[in-house]
Amino acid sequence: MKIMTLARICFLLLLSNVMFDGYAAGLVTVPKAKRGLLDLRREAFDEKVALNGEWEFYWHRLLGPDDRVGKPGLLVEFPFMWKGFGYASYRLTVLLPKNRKQLRVAMPDAYTAYRLFVNGKQLAANGKVSTTAEGFIPHWQYQAFDVDHDTDTLRLILQIANFVHNKGGIKKPILIGEKTAMELERQQSAAIDLILTGCLLMGGLFFLGLYLLGNRDKAILLFSLYSIVYCYRIIGIDNYVLHTIMPDLDWFFTVRLEYISLFLGVGLFGLYTLYLYPEDVSKKAVVIVSLMCFTFTAASVFLSPAFFTQLINPFLVIMLFCIVYTPYVYFRAYQKKRPGAVYALASSAAVMSVFTIALLHYWSVIPQMQGLSFIGYIGFFFLQSLVLSHKVSFELKKARQQAEQGLKAKSEFLSTMSHEIRTPLNSVIGMSHLLLRNDPRQDQVKQLDVMLFSANHLLTIVNDILDYNKIEAGKVSFEHIDMDLAGIADKVVAGLKADAENKHIALTLEIDPDLHDHVLGDPTRTFQVLSNLVHNAIKFTIKGFVSVSVKIESRTEKHLILKIAVRDTGIGISAEDQKIIFQRFTQADSSTSRSFGGTGLGLAICKRILELQGAALHLDSKEGEGSVFYFTQIFERSLNAVKQNNPDVLLPLPEEKPLNGIAILLVEDNPMNVLVAENFLTAWGAVVDVAVNGQEALTAIDLNRHKLVLMDLQMPLMDGYESATTMRANGVTIPIIALTANLPNEIEADIRQAGLTDVVTKPFLPEELFKKIMRCLSKA
Ligand code: ADP
Repeated sequence: MKIMTLARICFLLLLSNVMFDGYAAGLVTVPKAKRGLLDLRREAFDEKVALNGEWEFYWHRLLGPDDRVGKPGLLVEFPFMWKGFGYASYRLTVLLPKNRKQLRVAMPDAYTAYRLFVNGKQLAANGKVSTTAEGFIPHWQYQAFDVDHDTDTLRLILQIANFVHNKGGIKKPILIGEKTAMELERQQSAAIDLILTGCLLMGGLFFLGLYLLGNRDKAILLFSLYSIVYCYRIIGIDNYVLHTIMPDLDWFFTVRLEYISLFLGVGLFGLYTLYLYPEDVSKKAVVIVSLMCFTFTAASVFLSPAFFTQLINPFLVIMLFCIVYTPYVYFRAYQKKRPGAVYALASSAAVMSVFTIALLHYWSVIPQMQGLSFIGYIGFFFLQSLVLSHKVSFELKKARQQAEQGLKAKSEFLSTMSHEIRTPLNSVIGMSHLLLRNDPRQDQVKQLDVMLFSANHLLTIVNDILDYNKIEAGKVSFEHIDMDLAGIADKVVAGLKADAENKHIALTLEIDPDLHDHVLGDPTRTFQVLSNLVHNAIKFTIKGFVSVSVKIESRTEKHLILKIAVRDTGIGISAEDQKIIFQRFTQADSSTSRSFGGTGLGLAICKRILELQGAALHLDSKEGEGSVFYFTQIFERSLNAVKQNNPDVLLPLPEEKPLNGIAILLVEDNPMNVLVAENFLTAWGAVVDVAVNGQEALTAIDLNRHKLVLMDLQMPLMDGYESATTMRANGVTIPIIALTANLPNEIEADIRQAGLTDVVTKPFLPEELFKKIMRCLSKA
């Protein structure tokens, strides 16, 4: 949309520029003044005419309309300038046709104050003309006036004085032309300047905002400053549109701005190029150029205009260098395929045209050609914006890739670490169970309990980290199966009853008496959230009670809205800490972790789990009085009664041998794990053959003997997946149970693909292993 509008403006301006070119060509053919007389009696005024040619010039005289001239003045080629301070008068007589269009004269700015008399009347003036510096006031502003229709002769006397600039006199032509065309042209010029200023200012402010709001790329800052500084050059010089809007602007102030914007602008642009393509720029050259520009800027701030206005000539040399060097840099960047260099190269073509026009106009070779300059400027700034946008998006893309890689590495690292930690934990937990079953002494039972407790605690932490990692990576999926929420709450309370009793805290459960329904949901995750909240409540309560309540908020035919709350009379949480405890790895205060333990992950996990199911976890708490954690969740009602999916299987008594005589092939490379598994299996009566990797398992398997395979997944030479896949391909149909330290849903797809029958997660609980073996064997 913006591009379309821009294209339309460019097209219109191109048209207006063609008109300008016509005018430029027309200038050559119009009559010129001779000996102080310009005869325009044959002019039709289809084009405006410059009052150029031989004017009479009176140095150090301010001629009034009634003054007697005496001897004729010196003939000079108008527009005519002089060097340094002084004052003078210019005289010209213009003869106009009798029957003609309504005419208007446009008076440009003069160096640096003027007064124009036409047939004895003062019709235009800038500042205050004077013969001494005392009464003199400089000013620059566009002026225009209409020519009396009855007049056929214009006697012009132009007084000019200068006591402030290094140049005096007049540089631009006085123009006469058809009134409406002249007015229209002025309006067009002013409009173009205003549009361009607006574009540059907005672009500059946009990039400044981008820089201030986080993208600390110096190139962006420099480009924004350059755009803002340079926009003064559009509105504050040439047509002096700003001075028309604000006629009281002080000349000494605006002339400084005019030179500062030029010197500073080029300096900023030099530095911008350096930061944009640092590898393709000679740092020395840019630093020298920029330093010179900044010195010139400082001179424009502190010295008098008479001095700093002289700096324009040496500065043109610097500009010339920039005009040549910048495209060269962009070309090198383009060759080296730097981001956005192609736009930079195109922009330098645009700006070259602007500078060329500006220079030629400065040397009065061509008229101002505002339309073409406008297109050049807009093209330049637009293309430069593209360069920066390209650079920003390129960097963002790179940063995103790095972040993604980092996240992947972190997630892989956590997976590997947890796997590595869970494998030895398997042995610790397994061995503790075995020792507890082998009639330990009473004192050893206590020690083994502590060991088992610590190992299980460590396992919870590892699982929490892994779980959070998975949630963050968006890898969790929720089951939508029949569940008995009251039963789950009951199980949580029963499981933590002993902990509460140990602390002499009452732990109660209150289920809404009307809750008979089963709902659809994820029982494992619901259990996890509830047990986490109850566990915390017990952990942070020293005396009093912990109560769990499940209440029906509302009920429809299909849905059930339940409010589940865990209340305690514990240490409570301050208002400040309530804001942070739901973030990962944060605890109310660091002393908490020392006195109560914990990783600060539990609540973050609960919150995310609930959020992913469309519920929010809330907290009401007062320090020292206790806390209530609660959430309201919408559940779909289940039509089926709960099927006891996972009936609790009790371990066989030592004298029972439920696997008596059954041969099992155990494929496991870790000798500790072999020892643990072997101990359990033989205790249950099974005969165990061991293979230490997938490859060996392929030769060790005996279909006449083995009834089941327990297969570790990660092994050297050949892993469990490959081994199982090969076995299935070879016609092995007996159950193969995978043993893994990964979480089962992470590897679900791979397990199914490899034809594995079931999974047991390490470190395994003897009940779990026994239950799965029994189930597989009964099915087989
Ligand atoms: P952890 O308990 O492992 O430190 P959590 O994420 O479960 O991590 O809890 C974060 C923090 O919130 C705890 O360290 C504790 O400061 C505060 N907190 C959680 N539950 C309670 C509670 N019931 N009473 C008081 N403070 C609690």
